[in-house]
Amino acid sequence: MTNNPQLRADLHLHTIYSDSTLTPQDVINAAKAKGLACVAVTDHDTLDGYLPTLKAAEGSGIEVLPAAEFSSQLNKKTVHILGYLMDPDHTGLKNYLVDLKQRRIARMEEMIERLKKIGLDGITISDVAEKIGKASFGRPHLAQVLVDKGFAKNRQAAFEKYLSDTSPGYVSGIFDEPQHVIEIIRKSGGVAVLAHPMLTLVDERIPSFVEAGLGGLEASYPNISDKICLYYEKIARKHGLIVTGGSDAHGDNRGWTHIGKITVGMDVVDALRAKSQNSSIK
Ligand code: AMP
Ligand code: ZN
Ligand code: FE
Ligand code: FE
Repeated sequence: MTNNPQLRADLHLHTIYSDSTLTPQDVINAAKAKGLACVAVTDHDTLDGYLPTLKAAEGSGIEVLPAAEFSSQLNKKTVHILGYLMDPDHTGLKNYLVDLKQRRIARMEEMIERLKKIGLDGITISDVAEKIGKASFGRPHLAQVLVDKGFAKNRQAAFEKYLSDTSPGYVSGIFDEPQHVIEIIRKSGGVAVLAHPMLTLVDERIPSFVEAGLGGLEASYPNISDKICLYYEKIARKHGLIVTGGSDAHGDNRGWTHIGKITVGMDVVDALRAKSQNSSIK
């Protein structure tokens, strides 16, 4: 139990293991500079950055939580579900993550095919592979290829024209429904939290997620008015959900936020721990 009210945690951030420019050491350096007590690395559909960040944190006194931001889908809409404190060695979870990597490759090939059909010729999977480094295939990497090849003036434009959930290059249907993802997180001992509900806008589905075992709602998010954050806090309280928050920092890939821009008290981490089924973490 952590009683010091000054200790803070950033529970949403990305590394080079997904679509951020930050290495694990960068994350720890930034956390140290901000005086954070704890960070959760929430890369997209992977825990690959967890152990490297844990290693980078050695001797720093900064706690690193195992976590991930899972992709799910409701009809064609992407719904991100944060998972905290899963057992990284859980076989079911490990198999699921391997499968997600494969699905991302298949999706990338299909997106490239779609783009070709609408006249964006000359993009290959190797072009995207050159961008990913330690990460798995993601839309931001394809967006960069579109910029490099002169099909879009910047990554945001590439998303707007070609890659957003409603754009012609987007391929839906490769991810599971939120309820399934919530189950995977819970079975591996973790707590499932609906990420940035004010961006995803699936309020009417929250009760069904709660029924499936949702444990929290990310009501604190950068650049969102107090009124909207409070609105989601109220929904969380109504359903007995933990109110979480984080910066969603992506390093230089997202200029409007940074590690520590949004933090929560360590009481939130304690609440996640209390709800987690992962006895090795408690
Ligand atoms: P993926 O996991 O491959 O579906 O890519 C998801 C990531 O793409 C998100 O975390 C964002 O960083 C980025 N992204 C998704 N939609 C947009 C958008 N409309 N504009 C800019 N970036 C986006
Ligand atoms: Zn991202
Ligand atoms: Fe997200
Ligand atoms: Fe994120």
